[in-house]
Amino acid sequence: MKCPYCGFKESKVVDSRPAEEGSSIRRRRECLSCSKRFTTYETVESLPMVVVKRDGSRQTFDRRKLVNGMLRACEKRPVSVAQLEKLGEEIEQELQNSLEREISTEHVGELVMDKLKGVDEVAYVRFASVYRQFKDINTFMRELNKLLDEDKPK
Ligand SMILES: [Zn+2]
Repeated sequence: MKCPYCGFKESKVVDSRPAEEGSSIRRRRECLSCSKRFTTYETVESLPMVVVKRDGSRQTFDRRKLVNGMLRACEKRPVSVAQLEKLGEEIEQELQNSLEREISTEHVGELVMDKLKGVDEVAYVRFASVYRQFKDINTFMRELNKLLDEDKPK
C-alpha cells in the first residue's frame, strides 16, 4: 500500500474496521516514512471455494448458480429476486466464514433449504424435493409432514 503523499511503500495499520457489510475492510494507515495518515479500502480476500458433488467431481462455487437454483424453486411464488440474491450472499458469506475450502453439495443444499424455509415454504419443499432427490412420493410426503408439523403451535 503506497503512501499517497510520498510514495513510500511501507505503512503500518493504525485502525481497521469492516465496511459495507463485511465485504471490505477500511484501514487507517500511517506511512513509515512521512508519518502521514491515509485510509484504504481493501476487499476481504475471498478464497475460492470448491463444491464437491455426489460423484466426487469438483466445481468452483458460483453464487449465480445458487441463486438460479433458488429462482427455479421460487417460480410463481411471492419471492423477489432481490431477496434471493440476499440469501445467496448470506450463504456465500457463511461458507466463507467456515473457512472450509471444499464444501459438499449436500452442505450447500442444507444451507439453501434452511434459508428458503424462512422465506417461502412451497419454494422450500420444491427445492428440497430436487435436492434430496426424493426417491418416492413417501419420502416426499414425510418431509412435507415434518414441515407442516413444525408449523403447528406448540
Ligand atoms: Zn509517506
